Amino acid sequence: MSRPERFRRFLEYFTVHYPEPKTELAYANPYELIVAVVLSAQCTDKRVNQVMPALLARFPDPAALGTAAAEDIFPFIRSVSYPNNKAKHLAGLGRLLLSDFGGEVPSTIEDLQRLPGVGRKTANVVVSVIYNQPAMAVDTHVFRVSHRLGLVPKTATTPLAVERGLIRYIPQAQIPKAHHWLILHGRYVCVARSPKCHVCPLTDVCAFYAKTQAAEARKARVVSSKNALTVALSAN
Ligand code: SF4
Repeated sequence: MSRPERFRRFLEYFTVHYPEPKTELAYANPYELIVAVVLSAQCTDKRVNQVMPALLARFPDPAALGTAAAEDIFPFIRSVSYPNNKAKHLAGLGRLLLSDFGGEVPSTIEDLQRLPGVGRKTANVVVSVIYNQPAMAVDTHVFRVSHRLGLVPKTATTPLAVERGLIRYIPQAQIPKAHHWLILHGRYVCVARSPKCHVCPLTDVCAFYAKTQAAEARKARVVSSKNALTVALSAN
């Protein structure tokens, strides 16, 4: 199957079956989203959603976060992964939002990446979710699912290469949704260790599935020819 055809089938399936995907992070404004996305690095959305209410009660806006020290933030986020680093990042992020951006979350990838704790992936999530821009954030799920489905070539070995490979074929208007579709599919079906191919609706387009099925068929042929040989020898 050609790559454009894979994309077409992937987009078609999710457009029909999951037309309005959303991030699973709870947020009410750009400030809350960027804080949540910084906290979500190598951590589950569920855990982040658990710590956010108390954190936001104490630091409800950039003005409050921008005057906080990392030690003030740490107790509220101690249960997420890497709380020390993230507390430092959030303190720095709050300060920079106040000093350079008038307390507003910037809307460009370049400006967002100036904020501590905000790399290209986080910046892409913010511009995509908040500003509905055609940015593809590549996290571990997007990376894995894109490769397994065969949406990107094997040579796309970095998140940036996967991002470029995806946005090349996905119509701009669908990029924000495709980002969620890939994440949700990776989180619940095409999971890292044992992908749930038996319940996956994309087996007919999936390169990984085709390869593993072919390997299974080869194995079955070897076993069956060994069995036939054993029967023939024992008959002589
Ligand atoms: S068929 Fe299996 S490997 Fe392919 S996308 Fe579905 S779950 Fe993932």
